[in-house]
Amino acid sequence: VKIGIIGLGLIGGSIGLDLRDRGYQVLGVSQRSTTCETAVAIGAVDSASQDLASLREADVIFICTPIGLIRPTVVQLVPHLRSETVLTDVGSVKRSIVAEIAPLWPNFVGGHPMAGTAESGINAALRGLFVGNPYVLTPMAETPPQAVASVRELISQLGGKYLECLPEVHDRSVAWISHLPVMVSASLIAACEREVDPAVAQLAIALASSGFRDTSRVGGGNPELGRMMAEFNRSALLETLQGYRSQLDQMIELIQSEQWSSVETILQKTQVDRPKYLKES
Ligand code: NAP
Repeated sequence: VKIGIIGLGLIGGSIGLDLRDRGYQVLGVSQRSTTCETAVAIGAVDSASQDLASLREADVIFICTPIGLIRPTVVQLVPHLRSETVLTDVGSVKRSIVAEIAPLWPNFVGGHPMAGTAESGINAALRGLFVGNPYVLTPMAETPPQAVASVRELISQLGGKYLECLPEVHDRSVAWISHLPVMVSASLIAACEREVDPAVAQLAIALASSGFRDTSRVGGGNPELGRMMAEFNRSALLETLQGYRSQLDQMIELIQSEQWSSVETILQKTQVDRPKYLKES
């Protein structure tokens, strides 16, 4: 099985590193020639070029460009493909992508590896990035089972935990646990930056420790990726933001009215609920 990867950055480069280690031949395409050279030098691909036609012999192609470029990339790629070639993407949203790509290429299955770091670009590529992490595929009723099986096999080679759901269910779920946290965490940093008393602002910076590091981490990541989440998962993200705001309003109300036992009751419940969302639970 020959693998193609388009977009040699954090995710594309990491897929290449691991699949090459498993013995697959990996052909890469990226936008910049320097990225292609680096990808070959670090062992993420066997060869790389800026020309989509170089992927003609690939059996399975991972599209790992930024979300907004997935559709235009597929439009340019399709004339070069053999009909049996399987396409998959790694975009963090699925409903709009699947709706746009499935009509262009029937042998397409949407995917999303739930793995990443705050870094981006080919130099951020890591071995073992997907090991033990969920990797979701979002096939539809008309997706050929063979296409799903081919990508599923590669996910298992990457060490990912396989999950399957409908594109819309994926988007509403990741809005809660991935996209909402980015907006909440970014808003936390932005709100702190609005402190008008310079003495308070400076001391806050000096005192910030592990609690602030944890709660601000995802808000300090790649701005382009955060924008893509908002733009391409707009309705699901808005729903979760409204839900979060109503929770905050409730907390403000309870504190204003000095209902300390109710505040504690909420925190007792969140203390019990949190482990459900964590891998080690
Ligand atoms: P990234 O590190 O910025 O990598 C994307 C790469 O795509 C860039 O390095 C760029 O390489 C290349 N590229 C840009 N335009 C291109 C084009 N027209 N044709 C070919 N290559 C092009 O970003 P990433 O974090 O890997 O994200 C890539 C995808 O993975 C996104 O769709 C994102 O939603 C998804 N994803 C990200 C994460 C995460 O945590 N980061 C997690 C799961 C899924 P050049 O240097 O050649 O310009």
